Amino acid sequence: MVTKVEKIISARNEYRFDTLQQIADRYDVTAPYIHQVLKANNINTSRIRFPSTKNKIQCVICKNWGTRKVCLGDCNRNYYYFHVRCRNCKEDWHMKRAQLKQKRNRGDKNIYCSRGCYFEHKLNNNYYK
Ligand SMILES: [Zn+2]
Ligand SMILES: [Zn+2]
Repeated sequence: MVTKVEKIISARNEYRFDTLQQIADRYDVTAPYIHQVLKANNINTSRIRFPSTKNKIQCVICKNWGTRKVCLGDCNRNYYYFHVRCRNCKEDWHMKRAQLKQKRNRGDKNIYCSRGCYFEHKLNNNYYK
């Protein structure tokens, strides 16, 4: 026969995210009673907290700990933007990482700073090759 105390102890292990009050409600006792039972049996009385979204994360570029995957400023630019050169006007500019990835997935290797350059280059290639 399982005693109430044993039930409470196993409940603590099973419902690890529950507060003492929630466990108390389950067994129709008071939270202080649960606390007492757990303490008497050397069991941690505090519930396990849900992983907090406030946890620090490491910047993938500079490896500093912060709140973002990539910190703002230089890291952000380095991560999300790539230096690219327009095929047509040879102008250097930045392109978003996601955009560049999409391009590569399409098998599109030519990079243009604008639609204008895109068409111009296409025309030149077709007519003067
Ligand atoms: Zn950083
Ligand atoms: Zn261009």
